[in-house]
Amino acid sequence: MGKVYLVGAGPGDPQLLTLRAYRLLQTADAVLYDALVSDEILELIPPSAERIFVGKRCGNHYKTQDEINRLIYRYSLLYPKVVRLKGGDPFLFGRGGEELLFLAERGVEVEVVPGISSVFGAAASAGIPLTLRGVSSSLLVVSGHRLEGIDWKTLASAETLVFLMGIGNRREIARRLIGAGRSPDEGVAFVENATTPLERRVYATLKEVAENPPEVGTPALFIVGSVVDVGIKTSFGKPLNLPTGGEMKRDI
Ligand code: SAH
Repeated sequence: MGKVYLVGAGPGDPQLLTLRAYRLLQTADAVLYDALVSDEILELIPPSAERIFVGKRCGNHYKTQDEINRLIYRYSLLYPKVVRLKGGDPFLFGRGGEELLFLAERGVEVEVVPGISSVFGAAASAGIPLTLRGVSSSLLVVSGHRLEGIDWKTLASAETLVFLMGIGNRREIARRLIGAGRSPDEGVAFVENATTPLERRVYATLKEVAENPPEVGTPALFIVGSVVDVGIKTSFGKPLNLPTGGEMKRDI
């Protein structure tokens, strides 16, 4: 029976792979990868390794999670070194926990290799510090995929909020945040395809997103909080599109 490496591929830029991930990719017998893993990273896999796409896309599931779990298990019986490659970090909304449990229950040895999450990749790329002394001392990372069951009051009490999988629900998220007491003037940044050549940033206020949400492509990160203003103020934010109102004038 082989060993499975549950590896984070980082947010997109191959330079943001860990050395451990890079070395494992070059020596793997088989690599099962997600839709969010960039082509540049896939190019690092030698032709001798078997590559298996197991991506899931919202609304159009290519494979169910159970099918993916079973497939990884089958590959662990076939090869000594199997890499399960996931976008960002495998344990942050990556279903890595489920895969680990499934394999562990069947006696498969698993090693988890952390990756740079898109949360950190997008924030760094857009020059938005997720915490900032005197401005934000708390960060909440939330799935924006399903909004039922969220305690909006508690959620809104964190200073910086980051939503993953939240683009389709951006309008409703902004409405509920305002309803829970966040200022409608608060800054919002969407960072699409962070750390890739296709990266694009869109800035708005919560009110704008609630009333007339800007166009945003996916995958994108949705950041809310006063720290967004830093990204707008620094050169990181300037060349990119600003909200309809023009330059934001809020001070931090
Ligand atoms: N494990 C991943 C997250 C998987 S959930 C991680 O740690 O990053 C998928 C969500 O991640 C997307 O809906 C999007 O919100 C975010 N995402 C992934 N890659 C991204 C990228 N390059 N740029 C912006 N957001 C990204």
